[in-house]
Amino acid sequence: MNAPETAAAVDVDGLAARQRRFFRTDATRDLAFRKRQLRTLKDLLVRNEAAILDALKQDLGRPPSEAWTSEIGIVVTEIDTALKRLDRWARPKRVRTPFLLQPGSSRLVSEPFGSALIIGTWNYPLQLVLAPAVAALAAGNCAVLKPSELSPATSAVTARMIGEAFDPDLLAVVEGGIEPTQALLKQDFDYVFFTGGTRVGRIVMAAAAEHLAPVTLELGGKNPCIVAADADMKTAARRIAWGKFFNAGQTCIAPDFILVENSAQSAFHDALKGAITEFYGSDPAASADYARIVNEHHFDRLGALLGRGRTVAGGGTDRAARYIAPTVIADVTWDDPVMADEIFGPILPVIAYDDLDAELAALRNRPKPLALYVFTAEKGRADKVLAAISSGGAAVNDVFAQMLNAELPFGGVGASGMGAYHGRAGFDTFSHRRAVVRRATWPDVKLKYPPYKTPLAVLKRLLPWLM
Ligand code: NAD
Repeated sequence: MNAPETAAAVDVDGLAARQRRFFRTDATRDLAFRKRQLRTLKDLLVRNEAAILDALKQDLGRPPSEAWTSEIGIVVTEIDTALKRLDRWARPKRVRTPFLLQPGSSRLVSEPFGSALIIGTWNYPLQLVLAPAVAALAAGNCAVLKPSELSPATSAVTARMIGEAFDPDLLAVVEGGIEPTQALLKQDFDYVFFTGGTRVGRIVMAAAAEHLAPVTLELGGKNPCIVAADADMKTAARRIAWGKFFNAGQTCIAPDFILVENSAQSAFHDALKGAITEFYGSDPAASADYARIVNEHHFDRLGALLGRGRTVAGGGTDRAARYIAPTVIADVTWDDPVMADEIFGPILPVIAYDDLDAELAALRNRPKPLALYVFTAEKGRADKVLAAISSGGAAVNDVFAQMLNAELPFGGVGASGMGAYHGRAGFDTFSHRRAVVRRATWPDVKLKYPPYKTPLAVLKRLLPWLM
């Protein structure tokens, strides 16, 4: 284990005001300036790769390939996309100008908000603060990042890296838990971007309301995964097992539970067991490719969900190592505790169904999830599921795919959040889309000015033609 990372602590007091002062120098309006910051960030990630991977190993027992792809890789991809597309994203967009406003021109102009507060959580502790930071910087904002205190090694390496390369007036990291977060939330940030649970999401939104700061909330929920009998069972099981047990199930878009068509239940279980053994061997505790639970609190919370239903795979635990085996539980009912809240761990309950329509009707009564998955060979069935249940994103015959395409916005809906980011969506989230009309000074038609002489009946007829 490396020596603990240290960084000069950033003074929380007045941070939003300091950043706003810097923002008002207009330095961040310059696209070349923004690109320089993005290149600096990319360079930091490349140079600190070993320290980051080590920190993720300490916090979550993350295997290097998982850690690199889902943390460093995603942020670097976001940076590369922004560097390539920033000129286009930032270009004012010309829109039609109605006859009423002729001669004139109309444009949508993206402008930065000012200073953004970005609060992250612990499951992808680097990505969840840096990917929004890329979007904020690309859009010309300053930002304060607050990583989670539950992943302290990654929080420390993030603070040290950013502190070395960036002026805190532009980009700062504040470490710690509830207290510094509350202190930041009291400040007058121009935007608040939060990733975490629904309960804290409400606290964040209420605090932002005090300053009328716009918010993005990236929350979670129970993501349904429907497996129809006609699905390619082997592929479905591998993709589901990969998505569920990646980062030991501590992924906001992991399939939370399975609804499998009754007639395919045992084939699905067999395929799932086969996939788990193929990925992690007969003893996943010995696998170098399987992560650990973040802390004892979450270990105990997850442990309490075990021991009911029929264990099809896994079930083993080791508290000292914060290890919970990739576990599949069959014969689960909607009333079991495992179906109450988001699991956020490597436990996969399976419910068998006979009547898809009845299941869809039941799912419709639940909060809208962040992700929805359906595995089927029939396009009509997939379309029916997609139409019946709203969700932040969805994938057919795969998991995570909706998040891996940088062309698609990533975000929740309803209880799973509001707003989105990644690629262009991130740039738009951190930009105010300002409506600007430029007019010529002649002719100055008198029709609109008092005293109003044009009869109302004539105005009504003219309006559609003028607009
Ligand atoms: P959390 O909501 O408890 O904490 C998130 C952040 O809020 C941390 O930085 C923490 O320091 C801060 N915080 C905690 N309590 C606070 C308070 N009272 N006041 C102010 N700040 C406070 O995190 P969690 O619930 O453990 O995170 C897991 C959840 O996050 C899951 O529901 C998961 O689905 C969701 N998640 C969503 C996404 C997404 O992109 N939509 C990604 C990862 C995780």
